[in-house]
Amino acid sequence: MYQYKEVKPSCYVLSLDNHVEISEALSAFCLEKDIKSGTIAGLGAIGEATFRFLNPATRRYVDKTFAEQMEITNLTGNISRKDGKPYLHLHITASRSDYSCIGGHLLCARINGACELLVEAYDAQIGRRPDEETGLNLYEFQP
Ligand code: FE
Repeated sequence: MYQYKEVKPSCYVLSLDNHVEISEALSAFCLEKDIKSGTIAGLGAIGEATFRFLNPATRRYVDKTFAEQMEITNLTGNISRKDGKPYLHLHITASRSDYSCIGGHLLCARINGACELLVEAYDAQIGRRPDEETGLNLYEFQP
C-alpha cells in the first residue's frame, strides 16, 4: 500500500503505491505508527476523486466525483483522533488536462501515477467533538 522512510524523529516521507486510495492508505499508516495528531502535505497524480463541499446555509454536504486524470497540485491535511480511531481532515487542489484547478475537502482519491507525502506526527492527543453551530467535528484539545 505504501513505502516510507522516517527522515527525522516522527517525520515520515511516504510513497503510496499506484492505484491505492489515498485516505485509506493514510489511515492505515496512522494506525501502523499509532499517530495521535499531526500534519500531512503532498502531491501526486490521480485518476478519480470525490470532493465534498459544505453549504453552511443548509448545513448539507454536496459530494462530487471527478473521473479524470488530474495532478495533485496540493494536498494538505491534519491528523487527530475521533472515537479512538485516526481522523483525517484532508483538502486538495488538483489540476486538469487544461491546466485549470478544482479543489475541496477530499473524501477519496485513487492514485494513477504516484503520490508522495510528508507526514509529521506530534506526541499530543488531539480529538474531535461535534459542534452544534457549524455541524462540523471541531478540534477537541481537552484530555
Ligand atoms: Fe474540510
